[in-house]
Amino acid sequence: MAWEAVIGLEIHVQLATKTKIFSGASTAFGAEPNTQACAVDLGLPGILPVLNEEAVNKAIKFGLAIEADINKVNVFERKNYFYPDLPKGYQTTQLEKPIVGAGHVDIALSDGSVKTVRIHHAHLEEDAGKSLHEDFQGMSGIDLNRAGTPLIEIVTEPDMRNAEEAVAFAKKLHSIVTTIGICDGEMSQGSMRFDVNVSVRPKGQEKLGTRTETKNLNSFRFMEQAINKEIERQIDLIEDGGEVIQETRLYNGDTGEARSMRSKEEANDYRYFPCPDLLPVVIEDSLLEQLKGEMPELPEAKKARFISELGLGDYDAEVLSSDRATAEYFETAAKASDDAKLAANWVMGELAKTLNQENLSIANSPVNAEMLGGLIARIKDNTISGKIAKQVFEALWKGEGTTADEVIEKKGLKQVTDTGAIEAMIDEVLANCTQQLEQYRAAPVEKRGKMLGFFVGQCMKASRGKANPGMVNQILRKKLDN
Ligand code: ADP
Ligand code: MG
Repeated sequence: MAWEAVIGLEIHVQLATKTKIFSGASTAFGAEPNTQACAVDLGLPGILPVLNEEAVNKAIKFGLAIEADINKVNVFERKNYFYPDLPKGYQTTQLEKPIVGAGHVDIALSDGSVKTVRIHHAHLEEDAGKSLHEDFQGMSGIDLNRAGTPLIEIVTEPDMRNAEEAVAFAKKLHSIVTTIGICDGEMSQGSMRFDVNVSVRPKGQEKLGTRTETKNLNSFRFMEQAINKEIERQIDLIEDGGEVIQETRLYNGDTGEARSMRSKEEANDYRYFPCPDLLPVVIEDSLLEQLKGEMPELPEAKKARFISELGLGDYDAEVLSSDRATAEYFETAAKASDDAKLAANWVMGELAKTLNQENLSIANSPVNAEMLGGLIARIKDNTISGKIAKQVFEALWKGEGTTADEVIEKKGLKQVTDTGAIEAMIDEVLANCTQQLEQYRAAPVEKRGKMLGFFVGQCMKASRGKANPGMVNQILRKKLDN
């Protein structure tokens, strides 16, 4: 029997605000445990929450980016449950009236097609603290620094059909939230966490199968692995006569193991009710207009502009527009060099490769966009060849100069374009290659092209890569064929 998978995602996105959603405590990552939790986050008696306006603004910006209906009156509710990292005994979240209503995100697939994933809604809520099980023998540590960090939880419709679509969606979402500046996108720090709901059904059947939910995946790779593993498990289970039970599961990306965590709870288990400490949020039209005006160019529009204005190909435009830091870097380098295509090649080639090797993000690149742009300008005006440019790049990377011009000057890497100098060098090379020269002259014309390469190589070597390759070619040809 042919099976079809059905996938819906729930994504927790940490909003990049300075302070928490209901308190003035800092949200900065990596502080000593429990140094960034105030009385509100600790749930001490008598505390009152005060809503962070910036969290509301960022949630609205997300809604605008996915062309969603913004609910102009939205309400916070208490979701009641007990867990040590939730000192209040409830999470403040939204249920019936979330801030962002239905919207959509379009994703590009590898077969060239575009698919629309519907967003059911997105709501504002607070994060919980963290339980630390590893460092304490026989005990758990509780770090409440994260408690109260503002989140939006984004819930999709079950519109994806395989891991590729789910990962393409996740990447697109990452690109949107980083581009509009509502989230730092640092997945390894938990800034975006994906829950994947997976079910299978016989192909052609309309009714959805029973789903499981695998929680808290924080890398695209783990997400892909977890989905494929779960699809396989469900199909095997059903084909063996078993039944999928609705449950919450965990996937350990380091070991590749998946296991059941708990059976699925229902909304009514949580005794939701509107939070009496918080007024409904009323969004004025003037605020909506103001935020619309603050929206930056979205990845899709950027991609279209890279193609139409800068002449990039579809693939390059997609890669360079998908994340804000990369797009800004590329545009600065393109402007500084006045050659968008060369800049695209360098950003996606040498720069990306080196950043990867050193495990650095583009924002922390030792060679900044101005420096790379300056280097590319020297390739463009024939001061250096592409090959020498790699040496200059390496020197800039190591801090051996602050501009390409400085490195070129200091190391004497300027391309030789003086006809006389090149001619003299060629004569010397030919004088040392008499045997090859004889072979060349004896060879039929159609074989000579290949042999020419040998002489070009020798000349470039003799000039330590500095001779202008076009001129070497031209002059060599003249001398060899005469
Ligand atoms: P609940 O109310 O139990 O949280 P929802 O209807 O809100 O369930 O759905 C939660 C998530 O699960 C959504 O992302 C949705 O798209 C997805 N989902 C729902 N049913 C299925 C299914 N049968 N297979 C796969 N995903 C599903
Ligand atoms: Mg739900």
